[in-house]
Amino acid sequence: MQLVELALSRLHRPTRCLRRVDCVRRGVASRDLSAFLLEMRRLEEYKEEEHLHLLGEVLDLAHGTLEEQTAATLEAIGERVPRIYRPVLRARAPFGDGPELVGVPHFLILDRDDYVIREVAYVLHADETHNPDWLRRLEAYAWLYEANTLRPPAGLQYVNVDGEVHDVAYQGPAKVLDELRQVYEVGTNGLAKYEPVGEVRCRLCRFREHCFAKALADKDPAVLPAVDLSLARRLRELGIRSYTELPAAFTAKTLAAVERPFGTRMRRVGRKAKVILDQVSAFESGRTIRRKKPELPAGDRYVLFDVLGLPEQVHASGRVYVWGIETSPLGADSYRSSVAGPGAKGGREAWFGFLRNAAAVLKKQGDLPFFHWSRFDKDRLLEYASRWGDRDGIADRVARNLFDLRLAARDAVAIPDTSYSICTVEQHAGFRRTRSQQESDEDIARYIRAVETKDEALRSELLDRVIERNREDLAANRAVLGWLRGLADTAES
Ligand code: SF4
Repeated sequence: MQLVELALSRLHRPTRCLRRVDCVRRGVASRDLSAFLLEMRRLEEYKEEEHLHLLGEVLDLAHGTLEEQTAATLEAIGERVPRIYRPVLRARAPFGDGPELVGVPHFLILDRDDYVIREVAYVLHADETHNPDWLRRLEAYAWLYEANTLRPPAGLQYVNVDGEVHDVAYQGPAKVLDELRQVYEVGTNGLAKYEPVGEVRCRLCRFREHCFAKALADKDPAVLPAVDLSLARRLRELGIRSYTELPAAFTAKTLAAVERPFGTRMRRVGRKAKVILDQVSAFESGRTIRRKKPELPAGDRYVLFDVLGLPEQVHASGRVYVWGIETSPLGADSYRSSVAGPGAKGGREAWFGFLRNAAAVLKKQGDLPFFHWSRFDKDRLLEYASRWGDRDGIADRVARNLFDLRLAARDAVAIPDTSYSICTVEQHAGFRRTRSQQESDEDIARYIRAVETKDEALRSELLDRVIERNREDLAANRAVLGWLRGLADTAES
């Protein structure tokens, strides 16, 4: 028997990876779920219960044995009960030796003569790029429903984090059955293909320590920050199993010409080839290698910009919860932040709060470099401007002044580390946080709790911690900027 929800959750959460299925099969020791993932799970249950109350009278099938629940579901469907909560649907899978698939949708809702299948999801949006596991769940339920009633459901829906009901077009069960087959095969026979580690992919996964320890011991090229998942797979196809083989197998020129899939197209490694080979040298020597003189905007006056948001790649909305800026030189009013309250309205107000803060800085100091770390900040800025508007062109001015310190650091130094996250690079700059990385990860959970709670004192305490985190990130950016500027005077490899 294979529970559809468990199989898809193992495969997709926090990011899609078949190796997680294999880790579970082998009983690999894992760390506990992060505070963030636990909070998401709690909220999903809370939202489901909230929707249950909203629907009014429902037939609740959440209790009893599986046999009883299955029989009661088919009976309720036959009798056209208007709303059924936690029905159980079962059918034999058309793969392997025909394992039984079991699905437990949140709701079946009668629409004229047939049922709509509705899931309550703690996501803002679900499509093939964002949170596709919700689409797969709905497809699995549709297939199970059809297998039991011999007709397709009247529709598929998910309720998003803001309580909006979205329709999903049913494209047939091919995708979900293929995924369930893969989970079944790996769960039965083990992993047959290479699944590389990746900074973003593994960040919140409970097997992170295990997989990275193995990849580092194997000198897997995937541990190099400039080698993305697609390139790691391509290198494996080319017979490269260890990063130590790269300098003998490629020059910077031949590595630059290697192509790997990128979306629907193929993309050459290009300029990253030299970065990759320098990262190999850093790993082999265990030392930081200065690659070239950092190219940074000059001047003592600048702005640091940092956005805290829910991670996109997990079961979440990618929503920004703090927009923070800090001006130099440091003074009592250097730091300004804007924190999002609950729901879409809270996100919108925080956005306009940020625009007011940025407008005040631009008015007082004119156009200055806005230093930030990674694409995340820029992507959110452009996304919010397009979603909520940028009437006075403030976001546009900020976007034109953005300078990505992460790219500058990556170009300037090769570090013997698996990531160019701010938390890693700041250590090379001699910056020490007052709080551990784990505490920082818990800030996301703190924020979610803060916007949900009715307790004002608790909310204010939780939000203070989140703002502390934003200030500490900005301080880390300041330290790295100072470090890179110091290297600019001395660096030449
Ligand atoms: S740590 Fe990474 S490679 Fe390992 S199971 Fe998790 S996502 Fe997959």
